[in-house]
Amino acid sequence: MKPEIADLYKEQEEEASYRDHISTVDESGKRVWVYPKKPKGKFTNYRMLVSILLLLFLLAGPFISINGEPFLLMNILERKFVIFGQVFWPQDFHLAVIGMITTVVFIILFTIVFGRIFCGWLCPQTIFMEWVFRRLEYWIEGDYMKQKKLDRQDWDTEKVFKKASKHLIFLVISGVIMHTFMAYLIGVDQTWHLIQSGPTEKPVAFVVMVALTGMFYGVFSRLREQVCTTICPYGRLQGVLLDRKSIVVAYDYQRGEARGKYRKGEDRSVENKGDCIDCKQCVYVCPTGIDIRNGTQLECVNCTACMDACDSIMDAIGKPKGLVRYDSEDHIETKTPFVFTGRMKAYTLALLALAGVLVTLLIVRSDLETTIFRTPGMMYQERPDGTISNLYQLKILNKSNNTYPVEFELMEPAGSIEMVGEEMVLKKQGIEAGAFFIIINPAELDGLSTSVKVGVFSEGKLLETVKTRFLGPS
Ligand code: SF4
Ligand code: SF4
Repeated sequence: MKPEIADLYKEQEEEASYRDHISTVDESGKRVWVYPKKPKGKFTNYRMLVSILLLLFLLAGPFISINGEPFLLMNILERKFVIFGQVFWPQDFHLAVIGMITTVVFIILFTIVFGRIFCGWLCPQTIFMEWVFRRLEYWIEGDYMKQKKLDRQDWDTEKVFKKASKHLIFLVISGVIMHTFMAYLIGVDQTWHLIQSGPTEKPVAFVVMVALTGMFYGVFSRLREQVCTTICPYGRLQGVLLDRKSIVVAYDYQRGEARGKYRKGEDRSVENKGDCIDCKQCVYVCPTGIDIRNGTQLECVNCTACMDACDSIMDAIGKPKGLVRYDSEDHIETKTPFVFTGRMKAYTLALLALAGVLVTLLIVRSDLETTIFRTPGMMYQERPDGTISNLYQLKILNKSNNTYPVEFELMEPAGSIEMVGEEMVLKKQGIEAGAFFIIINPAELDGLSTSVKVGVFSEGKLLETVKTRFLGPS
């Protein structure tokens, strides 16, 4: 492409007023409703496939169990969290923090390299909006032109019927999403119990469920793309995460400009025209109402609809596909190959280090969490045989799904343990409390306070070692 056209394009982009406001709000601050044309094409088909698989997985998720535990459960009320069938307790909070930091670094790195690919392909908001609600809308009201016409026409029988049935179906689906969401929060059994209880037996839960259904309905019937462009924090972060080397959905202005209408049989090179025939198909399909030819914009959720739309036009006029494609701004401008930048290297190292720490902690994570402490306010006891004893309280949390009969052994220094009461049996995912004496010969003690190590055994197998202090005569 001629350099003067590239410069002109850049100049126009710099001066462009579309950067001053978002595309779905007009100058008076009123919402501009987006009627995106139904997208068709290769990327749309791939996205549909991915979305169907993810939707099936999301809906089936609460019913999948591993070792008797749900696949995923985030029970904030009971502070019980299950990930891939592994139960995590508040005592595992450090793992949650490291897991969270690792996830954030992963998202940053992923976004720097691949842009907003997550939004277009994996985000539940996009999947439900584009593949459930929008599809139903196309089915009931027709494609974008018919929708516009329907909105403009008077409230006749056709409009009342179409709008009422659409919103009724939207409400039912919002209810399904709410119940799925609840099943991930409190489990399938509890959700089923709430459904059976009804509003009179559990009025608070009923109000929460109605409010959540209303929230989902509001998001998918009214808020729509506003969630991605103004509410979602990930969307708002794009400005600082993306750089000119990030791969985004981009318009190749070097090839497309100077844009101009297409005349059959014309030789566009004679008139200095680029490949963009200014048909605006890429704009009509955009669910966030932007023109990708203006460059990377905050509103773009990388949904690929404009890529498909433009590819079909390029096909029709006999030009190569990919005028709008996945590419980096840098590559489009300079045609230089992809470079793994210093920023990407730094984030990758940080990510690898965090992932290493997280994996190590998960591997060494014990099924038991034992707390042993000396009974407060009690001194040591001198026994008739000359040994010294201290009384201890103990609490054991069993994080696993196994039942453990447990015994305790003094591992350091030499001595013995005498249980108070019966032998202890740990129930699955239960907490047991008890007490025991540690008995040590004074010759083994270091003075007033000696460090002791207690082994927690089950059927002869050492499960955990715990350190505590033992008081004796000076
Ligand atoms: S510009 Fe293209 S990829 Fe971005 S949101 Fe619009 S249609 Fe989707
Ligand atoms: S669809 Fe392609 S050819 Fe048509 S206006 Fe958009 S970029 Fe230009």
